[in-house]
Amino acid sequence: TSIEQLKEWDRNHFMHPTSSVRDHQENGAAYTFTKGEGIYLTDIDGREYVDGLSSLWNVNLGHGRSELAEAAKEQMETLPFSSSFNNYSNEPAIKLSRKIAELTPGNLNVTFFTSGGSESNESTFKIIREYWKLKGQPQRTKIVSLQKGYHGVTLAATRATGMDNFNSFGTSYAPGFLNAEPYLTGCEQGDKTHPNYENSIRGVIEREGADTIAAVIMEPIQGAGGLNVPPEGYLQSVRDLCDEFGIFMIADEIVCGFGRTGKMFGVENDGIIPDFMTVAKGITSGYIPLGAVIMKDSFRDELAELTGGVLFHGFTYSGHPTSCAVGLKTLEIIEKENIVPHVKKMETVVENEFSKLKEKHPHVTNERCAGLLGAFDVFKDPEENIPFKPEEAAAPTLSKLCGDLGLIVRPIMYKGANTIAFAPPLISSKSDIEEIFNIFSQALTRFERQVNS
Ligand code: PLP
Repeated sequence: TSIEQLKEWDRNHFMHPTSSVRDHQENGAAYTFTKGEGIYLTDIDGREYVDGLSSLWNVNLGHGRSELAEAAKEQMETLPFSSSFNNYSNEPAIKLSRKIAELTPGNLNVTFFTSGGSESNESTFKIIREYWKLKGQPQRTKIVSLQKGYHGVTLAATRATGMDNFNSFGTSYAPGFLNAEPYLTGCEQGDKTHPNYENSIRGVIEREGADTIAAVIMEPIQGAGGLNVPPEGYLQSVRDLCDEFGIFMIADEIVCGFGRTGKMFGVENDGIIPDFMTVAKGITSGYIPLGAVIMKDSFRDELAELTGGVLFHGFTYSGHPTSCAVGLKTLEIIEKENIVPHVKKMETVVENEFSKLKEKHPHVTNERCAGLLGAFDVFKDPEENIPFKPEEAAAPTLSKLCGDLGLIVRPIMYKGANTIAFAPPLISSKSDIEEIFNIFSQALTRFERQVNS
């Protein structure tokens, strides 16, 4: 099939997720990748790019890992699929759930498998609501999440998402979700003098009545909503708040989990243990779809008691043997290659590169990173706190310039911010990171010429 033919079929037949449908129909995709090796991607026209976002913050071990392909092949040749409904089980799912129990903090020892992040969050909400109903508190249905949080696109997960461009799309069927203002640590600790107290999680809980709140969900570091790193102690203040009112705390570790932030899980940066963790993406390094809800064994035991033992919830692909085999191999590699301490070391390299970038490029500000999850903003005048106007589309322009220079990153324009987020594969070396920042610098030079002309 010719390249032109593929491009035409793409425009005519392939409806892309989270995309401008009309723009795609008219102009086609900007990037069609055909090959990946390590941190590099090659497109259909033969151009090479650094995968500065690990594709969708998921290809954490980089592209072309033959061990992962082998794990899938071996499992597919042995037993490609087997149900795990009811009293059926399979070896890779058993071993992966055991491995997860070893890696998670506290007694987060029981795993329910899904096929991705949205399904994991959706499942958690459903299971928790069922728990409260059976516990004799059927009114306890509300889920509090954070503005700018991202939790996926199934009905409930999209409603939990605190970004109105997502959660105004087809959400009226999922009531009971409340978005609180993020990072009001003092308010969560009980300081009512703050002007935004009533929008804090504590304020929302008080307004709604604690006995109507089933759970609080948040990402340890917000990804899609702008790469927002909470101030130190925030997660602890939320943990304490949830304990005070007997509310479940869900950590959405779908981006942060499995080493991205320099700890195995994002919550470990604050030393807290949530009641539930939802994971996906990095659990298989993106090589095959898999997600999971990880819960405390004490919760599982109580749920079993309350339900009379039957969980009327599960997907065909819950515990898919091939996905789990790839997951198991991914976690083995993460441990064997000491990926997590490596990522922590690379954080320092990113910080050094940031200071050089800021010296050279005056529009760069608000740089932040945790492990290999990082971002910076561009402002028209950072000193005077003057942002670029939305119509200037600063982040998409800069991201396109990075693309032209061979670097894939994520532009985020939300509520006036112009953010460039990056999350390169966790195997990135010091020189890989230097290469990424070198491209940032070249792209910013071109950007400065454009905005100052
Ligand atoms: N939660 C977070 C933090 C995410 O970043 C994502 C996806 O980007 C999701 C949930 C949804 O996961 P999925 O797209 O696999 O359904």
